Amino acid sequence: MTVYEDGTEVPEGGAVVGGPAVGALAFGWLGPGDLGPPRHCPDSLLRVLEDAARSPVGRTRGFHRCPFCPDAEFWLTRHQTTDGSELWLGSAAIEVRDRSGRTWQAPNLVLHYVTAHGYLPPAPLVETYGTAR
Ligand SMILES: [Zn+2]
Repeated sequence: MTVYEDGTEVPEGGAVVGGPAVGALAFGWLGPGDLGPPRHCPDSLLRVLEDAARSPVGRTRGFHRCPFCPDAEFWLTRHQTTDGSELWLGSAAIEVRDRSGRTWQAPNLVLHYVTAHGYLPPAPLVETYGTAR
């Protein structure tokens, strides 16, 4: 899967068909060595990401499985949402805006990285959505 460092600009014509917003910043485009110690993502931010995943901005080229689950099946990854529904991850990208108006783009697998592997999105998103709204 394509790897972008968190906070770098997603190139046009990159990993997503139909996206990204021009100037979007990357998050969650993780490679096998990119996970630090597990951290807690605020539930309010997780819900924002889930909402974004219900309306993806583009499809990824092919589908991708989690690089951190050694026995992941070669298929989409199931995510149980905070409201009990399910999303299938690994073939689309999502975008969210921070409070300064910057657009951030991630693979929808970012939901799995957050809930299964303790990935914490970049500080501007935590600061925008991480407190009660
Ligand atoms: Zn995983």
